[in-house]
Amino acid sequence: MEAIIRAGLSQLGLLDRVPPEAPGQLAEYGRLLLEKNRVMNLTAITDPEQAARLHMLDCAALLTVCDLRGRRLIDVGTGAGFPGLVLKILEPSLELTLLDGLAKRLDWLGEVCAALRLEGVVRLHGRAEELSREPGLRDSFDVAAARAVAELRVLCELCLPFVRPGGLFVAMKGPGGGEELAGAAGALSALGGAPEGCRSYPVPGAEVTHQAVLIRKNAPTPPGYPRRWARIQKAPL
Ligand code: SAM
Repeated sequence: MEAIIRAGLSQLGLLDRVPPEAPGQLAEYGRLLLEKNRVMNLTAITDPEQAARLHMLDCAALLTVCDLRGRRLIDVGTGAGFPGLVLKILEPSLELTLLDGLAKRLDWLGEVCAALRLEGVVRLHGRAEELSREPGLRDSFDVAAARAVAELRVLCELCLPFVRPGGLFVAMKGPGGGEELAGAAGALSALGGAPEGCRSYPVPGAEVTHQAVLIRKNAPTPPGYPRRWARIQKAPL
């Protein structure tokens, strides 16, 4: 796995920018993921090469799209740590918070952080739409990121409330990211976001092009948001 990750990082133009130990750490993370996946549902991917490409390199590619040095970032619906933990390994100056509704996954992520000697990673257990009402979390992160959690209109309501005015929300999407962004105009205007673009990037060796949707937060979250989960789901903005 390490050779694939190293070659992919080189193809993305990132190899010279990341810590020398990062490719080995990502390979070890992948090994731990596939091992734990035998007893806990973490990923549908079971092949090491696919895990290297579609998890590690897909998330790594985000660093070609935005500069995350020294940023305070929350990964909403992190699951098995994607994209947050990959970004932390590649950019250690990141102040990372991993949020998920499933405590077991966060417990395992704690074990991964210990095994890889990653310090300062905050793990938050709970529903995004509830936690973003808490002072210290609401309107406070430089960046919120999410991958494979929900369609963009729903995701905006789960993620934008965490972002400080002037900060960025990054949604990792497949090839349909641009269309989702066009359909999310109502959500953006309700939540104080403005589209900043949709950047396509290749996933090395995977013959797929993914898209990062970038949304700038330009005003604090209005008091009525986010709504309760049933409402968010039933009537997306
Ligand atoms: N982001 C990871 C990835 O790309 O592999 C995980 C994706 S997984 C399909 C979706 C994750 O989001 C699950 O772990 C789930 O528990 C979490 N999730 C979904 N809705 C959530 C919410 N409203 N609040 C907190 N976590 C949520």
